[in-house]
Amino acid sequence: MSGGMKMPTTLLERPETAAVPKGRSQLFVPDYVFVEPAALEYPLGKEIYDRYQQLGIPIRMTTSHNQVRGIPGETEAEQYRNAKRTLVVGVRKTLTFETSKPSAEYAIPLATGCAAHCHYCYLNTNIGTKPYIRVYVNTDEILAQTARYIEERAPEITRFEAACTSDPISIEHITGNLKRAIEFMGQQENGRLRFVTKFHHVDSLLDAKHNKHTRFRFSMNADYVIKNFEPGTSTFKQRIEAAGKVAKAGYPLGFIIAPLYWFEGWEEGYTQLLENLSRQLVPEAMEDLTFELIQHRFTKVAKKLILQRYPKTKLEMNEEERKFKWGKYGKGKYVYPDVQAKALQAHLEKEIARLFPRARIEYFT
Ligand code: SF4
Repeated sequence: MSGGMKMPTTLLERPETAAVPKGRSQLFVPDYVFVEPAALEYPLGKEIYDRYQQLGIPIRMTTSHNQVRGIPGETEAEQYRNAKRTLVVGVRKTLTFETSKPSAEYAIPLATGCAAHCHYCYLNTNIGTKPYIRVYVNTDEILAQTARYIEERAPEITRFEAACTSDPISIEHITGNLKRAIEFMGQQENGRLRFVTKFHHVDSLLDAKHNKHTRFRFSMNADYVIKNFEPGTSTFKQRIEAAGKVAKAGYPLGFIIAPLYWFEGWEEGYTQLLENLSRQLVPEAMEDLTFELIQHRFTKVAKKLILQRYPKTKLEMNEEERKFKWGKYGKGKYVYPDVQAKALQAHLEKEIARLFPRARIEYFT
């Protein structure tokens, strides 16, 4: 650890000077920062540390990014809210990448966690007990490992998903890691990157040398879903404007419509969504456009956490109205029964074919 750094004694005292703008789609500025000592041996770790120290945000050291202790909060709900406002700066030691079917061969671990509050978020299952935001500063090591995976499968193309454990755009202003990964992948003949976001903060990526090797996807949904279940994310209008910028910058573009959710008036709601998209999207976006369709699902563990954290949620999670499907590691999830799933799929496929005749639907799951 570098010397001469002043540590605040308590996390509970958050100075007035660190007041930051909050609200829908603002750039995330943490209330609390934890740093692993090893992270300070990397220039990026040091830079992040110095930045938040100058902003007067409380910083504490932590022995491991996997076991952060001392996030304030009297109740579980308060601790959860504070954890979502906590940034942990660490070194990614596990360089074995998880698989990421059906969207890619591997998940590239650039960060974990997200400051937004989507009720249905898959992170409730994946990182349920550690909702704080972790960014990794050993980017070169992560990218070197990525190159090894590409090499192993060459000459086949290997795809990497960068949004398996976070929303990478929501924290890109903190690390710049996504841009590094995009430019790295731009130079890989057999490597491709993809990620998805619900945020519009894309400007820093528009001049990246992507070489069309990164598919930039936006998560979109019917108004009803965005309004009721996606607090803290960018609005539909902001996302569609960002999608236009990204398409103009030459990136292959995609939309993930997830979770596909059954609500009263869903057919009309999803038709409206797709009509809005087709009306507002720039012509450049149509050249190589993909859709991915993912129906709503939940696990028993996630349901319990969601109800604790968002007790007033309208999210329907009635096991009796769902179909149980076995998943990875013997864990199961609840999806819609076949009749509903097929109706969602058929409606979305019909409307996408009508409004985006040249687009490709990659999968429905
Ligand atoms: S934006 Fe994505 S990662 Fe963040 S809370 Fe919402 S669903 Fe989860």
